[in-house]
Amino acid sequence: MELPDLGRLIERFDGFNYGYWMNCSCGGRSFITAHDYFIEADGAHMSCEQCGQRIRFGPAVAALRDKHDPALQDDVVTRFAWYHTSTSSDWPSPDYARRFAENLSWSDDLIGLSRKQYILNETTKALHLGTYETAIENMLRRMRDQGDGSSQFYLYRVALRPKPLRINPGYRDENHEDAANLKISDLNAENLDVVRYLNVHEATGVLSLAVRPKAIAAVQCIEIPLNELTVPIDTESFSADVARLKSARSAWVTAEAKIASIDRGTRVMMQFGARPDPGGLAKYAGELERHHQTLWYDFEARLGEQFLANVSPVIRRDFTEALACWRRENPTTGIYRFVERYAAMAALLEEPDKIQRTLRHMEWLVVHQTAA
Ligand SMILES: [Zn+2]
Repeated sequence: MELPDLGRLIERFDGFNYGYWMNCSCGGRSFITAHDYFIEADGAHMSCEQCGQRIRFGPAVAALRDKHDPALQDDVVTRFAWYHTSTSSDWPSPDYARRFAENLSWSDDLIGLSRKQYILNETTKALHLGTYETAIENMLRRMRDQGDGSSQFYLYRVALRPKPLRINPGYRDENHEDAANLKISDLNAENLDVVRYLNVHEATGVLSLAVRPKAIAAVQCIEIPLNELTVPIDTESFSADVARLKSARSAWVTAEAKIASIDRGTRVMMQFGARPDPGGLAKYAGELERHHQTLWYDFEARLGEQFLANVSPVIRRDFTEALACWRRENPTTGIYRFVERYAAMAALLEEPDKIQRTLRHMEWLVVHQTAA
């Protein structure tokens, strides 16, 4: 198989502090800052810069960030370093279908699909490649939405086969055409190796690729977060916060213990006055729980300011929610360990140059694919 010039792949850097472009029905595009997007300024409405019409902004009308994005050029697509995050250490594994079938717990209640058909659907999907930022944001979403809060992730740097790859002209808009769930059979039907599409849910406004496995020539891989970038936490600077959190938790747990025999639903009704609450014990426990939660929100905001100084509020929120999932999946882990994890993960967003440099020095693994 022909390999591209692996030492000369083009890098790009978009960062994690970008604004958003929104489409208007007049065909114009308008810019909104990350701050206004985050706070949903003006009830999530803005005026079109071209025709003045009011636009309800959000993913449904997200536009390409850079009209001249270099990834629009087919010959640049094949020379870019693309990125992907996965919980598999051997992605894109030719063994994936067999392992998926082995690990699948199957219930015959799943309506309308045979086990064989389900396995085929799930194991013959196109592979997704994006910018470094897209790959990291995708990992945050998986941590948050797919039960991967404490999964080990791997970051891949991907070289595509050199031309000729069959790429769709222009790009698909995820809002109007299927891109995220393409199967290899879809690519076959359209005689394509690569479908270029606009991201509207993560790394909004940049282009990603859905590719057939054999479009991938080689990959480099590291475990993330990167241990080398894990610096010891200055525990002294957090000691007051940690003491406050521990004390609030202890008060809440003590109050909860006094009403432990009452089920959660009844307790909520007691707190709202729908059931008698002798001594106000349920209300008091509820107040302490909310106080503890508020202290955590404040603490997370402080961590964001310290460790994600160059990250937009939108992505800071995604990151905070992803790390909260890590915390929920590790309930007995101490707060300092959480801060260590937070800082190590934050380095993926704050120090991408160091991450990419480490990745660039890893051995290339040539991907030997079957017919797909
Ligand atoms: Zn307009």
